[in-house]
Amino acid sequence: MIPAEAHAARLFANHPHHRTAMLTIRCARCKTKLWKYNKLGKGEVLRCHKARIERMLDAIAENGKILCPCGETIGFDKGTFYRMVRKAFVYSGEKVAKL
Ligand SMILES: [Zn+2]
Repeated sequence: MIPAEAHAARLFANHPHHRTAMLTIRCARCKTKLWKYNKLGKGEVLRCHKARIERMLDAIAENGKILCPCGETIGFDKGTFYRMVRKAFVYSGEKVAKL
């Protein structure tokens, strides 16, 4: 973990409503499991930060995009994160810990 991330995590930890969840990101079209993501806090998944991707499953990184094997574009590679295409994916998950 880089120092800036560690600092951000500590800031999160000081807020009682922030928690983490392990999400399984799936293709909305074919339901293929794409990756597991350690999400911080509440709210929608608009971005997936690469540093918090727990495990890559069947997603394919190609030409600046992250794709499902069925061809659906799931997100756009922005360097440190993927900007997600809202309608292209679904997710399920569980809360893993209160920070
Ligand atoms: Zn798919």
